[in-house]
Amino acid sequence: MPIAFKNTYARLPESFFEKAEPTPVIQPSLIALNHELATELGIDPGFLRSDEGLAILAGNSIPSGAEPLAMAYAGHQFGGFSPQLGDGRAILLGETGGKDIQLKGAGQTPFSRRGDGRSALGPVLREYLVSEAMHALGIPTTRALAAVLSGELVLREQPEKGGIFTRVASSHLRIGTAQYFAARGDTDSLKALVGYAIQRHDPEATDAFELFQSVIAKQARLVAQWMGVGFIHGVMNTDNMSLSGETIDYGPCAFMDRFNPAQKFSYIDQNGRYAYANQPGIAQWNLTRLAEALLPLFHDDQEKAVTMAKGELENFPDLFDSAYFKIFSKKIGLPENYDRELIQILLDLMATQKADFTLTFRGLANGPDAFLSNFGDQEPVRDWLARWNAAGNPDTTLMKTVNPAYIPRNHRIEEVIEAAKQGDFAPFHEIHSILREPYQDKDGFEKYQQTPSPDEVVCNTFCGT
Ligand code: AMP
Ligand code: MG
Repeated sequence: MPIAFKNTYARLPESFFEKAEPTPVIQPSLIALNHELATELGIDPGFLRSDEGLAILAGNSIPSGAEPLAMAYAGHQFGGFSPQLGDGRAILLGETGGKDIQLKGAGQTPFSRRGDGRSALGPVLREYLVSEAMHALGIPTTRALAAVLSGELVLREQPEKGGIFTRVASSHLRIGTAQYFAARGDTDSLKALVGYAIQRHDPEATDAFELFQSVIAKQARLVAQWMGVGFIHGVMNTDNMSLSGETIDYGPCAFMDRFNPAQKFSYIDQNGRYAYANQPGIAQWNLTRLAEALLPLFHDDQEKAVTMAKGELENFPDLFDSAYFKIFSKKIGLPENYDRELIQILLDLMATQKADFTLTFRGLANGPDAFLSNFGDQEPVRDWLARWNAAGNPDTTLMKTVNPAYIPRNHRIEEVIEAAKQGDFAPFHEIHSILREPYQDKDGFEKYQQTPSPDEVVCNTFCGT
């Protein structure tokens, strides 16, 4: 058996999923295969490259040992609750090497509602590049095993080339999974979910409350890590927040260029609910929804259960702050919690002067000129620099290991997608090779470092639907 599948999710009660098989496509071809990840999972990359492997990655053949299914979940989307979402365009094949293997865009499932179950090429390439960049930056995330061109068109605003994305995740359990059972008053399934999540993610946890505590800690750290690289998730709905603490569901996400705490990109996020600076608050809001769902498992006495949940949720801002300042202390090369005010003053200067987030921090590690060049009005920045220098011995070597030279800049991603739509995948492969080593300066690739010029700026990102 070329892929040794386990199907622990398929062994859960029937309420957890619907069986769903991928729908074959006419003429698939491989765009990208993640050799390193395949090897990590114990899959021979050579096999995945073969006709048989491609057929699996395209959804044209079901690998032996796989029990394909669509997962059930609910979710709060932009604050409104949908009791039934579920995998409408994703099919879980099974687990290998302890990870879920899922095909995104492989056709309709019982949860597709009016959707076609397909993905356009653009979102497939975006998720491939951004999730792998996130991994290279050292931030927990789902990963990309493969991208396939389906050879078919999908109908969006206009007909677009279709793609199939193979996603690898520690699991696809979401806050919305717990909400799905809670909304149905199905406590047995909720208990089964908690047991399963503990087994996969938190073997030390002994009950639902300890699992909850661990999810809070992981999410606080995750969102702080996003903030540290200027990442905006874009759709932090409760169905897009994982119990494993990995970044999941890259839709209209983006890395920020010029620093603006109120920045949002997602076209569908008209009110900026999921803007950069709102992310910690939204994470806490989502975790409150998780608490509500798990409440009956915290304690038989509802009042006590509520007190327990509240106490834990109140810890979130401190957990977030401590992770956040730890990260930003490193970014300016100073010991943990050396001077929180110094960090805030710099961020304020960056915001008022619209300094590029990535280049400013990288510049600080490269010397005063590289740093100051990001600001128009340098006087107040020089004052900051003097205070920073007086702070001791900022560790610029450490800074270069936490302040990336390269992030997946939106305007470059859009360029790559445009070229791919014309059949040219060379830019995709080039940017991918740069983003694999984001902390490594590379001669000749400056264009991937630069802030977009005014005519290059991408204001909106669009969902994968
Ligand atoms: P997302 O925006 O990816 O978080 O998806 C939200 C919900 O819409 C999930 O239940 C998806 O499975 C579903 N969905 C998104 N796109 C499609 C599509 N093209 N076909 C069917 N369902 C979809
Ligand atoms: Mg989703």
